[in-house]
Amino acid sequence: MTSATRPVPRNSVEEPVFRDMCRRFAAAEAEPRWEQADRERAFPRDFFRACSAAGLIGISAPEAIGGTDLGCVEEAVCMEEVARVNPNLAVSILVQNVANALLYFHGSDVHREIAQRNITGECLLAIAVTEPEAGNDVQNVRVSARRDPGGDWIIDGIKAFITLGGEADVLVLLAQTDRSQGRRGMQFFAVDRASPGLQAVPIDTYVNRPAPTYRIMLDQVRVPEERRLAAGFSEIMAGFNRERIMVAARWLGHMRHAQEWALSYARERHQFGRPIGANQSIAFMLAQNQVDIEAAHHLTYHTAQRWDSGAPIRDIIMDVSTAKLFATQAVLRVTQNALHAGGGWGLTSELPVMRMAMDALVAPVTVGSYEIQLRAIARQLGLPCD
Ligand SMILES: Cc1cc2nc3c(=O)[nH]c(=O)nc-3n(C[C@H](O)[C@H](O)[C@H](O)COP(=O)(O)OP(=O)(O)OC[C@H]3O[C@@H](n4cnc5c(N)ncnc54)[C@H](O)[C@@H]3O)c2cc1C
Repeated sequence: MTSATRPVPRNSVEEPVFRDMCRRFAAAEAEPRWEQADRERAFPRDFFRACSAAGLIGISAPEAIGGTDLGCVEEAVCMEEVARVNPNLAVSILVQNVANALLYFHGSDVHREIAQRNITGECLLAIAVTEPEAGNDVQNVRVSARRDPGGDWIIDGIKAFITLGGEADVLVLLAQTDRSQGRRGMQFFAVDRASPGLQAVPIDTYVNRPAPTYRIMLDQVRVPEERRLAAGFSEIMAGFNRERIMVAARWLGHMRHAQEWALSYARERHQFGRPIGANQSIAFMLAQNQVDIEAAHHLTYHTAQRWDSGAPIRDIIMDVSTAKLFATQAVLRVTQNALHAGGGWGLTSELPVMRMAMDALVAPVTVGSYEIQLRAIARQLGLPCD
């Protein structure tokens, strides 16, 4: 998505009404599912269908393909409210919306039909960029796509850390089509997961368990030319900026969840004849959490509003990186403080707070780590930082 093609949302809703709808959705559809999904490390496919029925897949997609054409603010509200119940079911929505946007902004009718089926809950998507040797360094993508004499593309190589890679019906996958062109020689393909030669192997992570990650092994996978998108490195880098706002919203929701738990525990747990929250050390720690949450809230929604205003991406990179960096640092502080309030019981599976602290560990890693955000901010400050 380039600055030039980035649309301003055409619809709007009153934020409190939309937030209330998302909150009720999360209580009804995420709450009953996340614990089993976490225990079994298995994505609940019916959660995706419930998201679709509630209009949360393709929030920002045009109405012409069944989307709701709402903005970044509404998408962030959805992310925050679902993450307030479980950050990993929330990320499954995030993945759908990122992949969907690539398909409808940069695709043909063939791709838009896939995006449409995604919105109606029939086609689960995954986004496959990362590789074993291309993590933050996306330019180093080595999965190759070469044209065979019949006009199809033959894709070979390995992708890594692909969320829902084993469940998705279609993977929106970045490959090198012309290595001599460097990052300009990369393109996305909409690849059916059932394609002969494609194998998804689970990666045993401690995080994101309800939305598992996979290695994707591609051995001479044949993809028709009509599945190639008019998008590559530049479009995914531009798309990462919007995704970073959603990442900030995701961890904001998780912070609220951890803080709500810690506040209630600090009121209920008695030691020395009084609630532990009566001790200044605990009370101040949770007050400090609230400062982090308020700051993350303002940074996230300020950035989402700027995005919706249609401002060129280059003018809001500072906001995006600041919001993402702050929220992903703050969630580690907030969940660690909540864990500390839980004492010894906090470290057991009898309380939910250890799970919250573990889930937060992935925050600094995805969609450009701390260092990548600091580099972006330093460059915005005019420093010649490589
Ligand atoms: C649970 C999970 C789900 C994911 N889901 C997806 C997905 O659906 N699709 C997808 O494509 N990818 C996905 N990823 C990949 C993710 O977005 C990151 O890109 C990837 O994990 C980071 O790459 P790496 O682990 O190889 O780290 P590396 O890039 O090897 O980084 C290792 C360390 O070095 C630091 N570092 C790297 N470069 C620099 C630099 N220039 N300056 C300073 N420090 C640097 C990093 O900050 C980090 O601390 C997922 C990852 C995880 C863990």
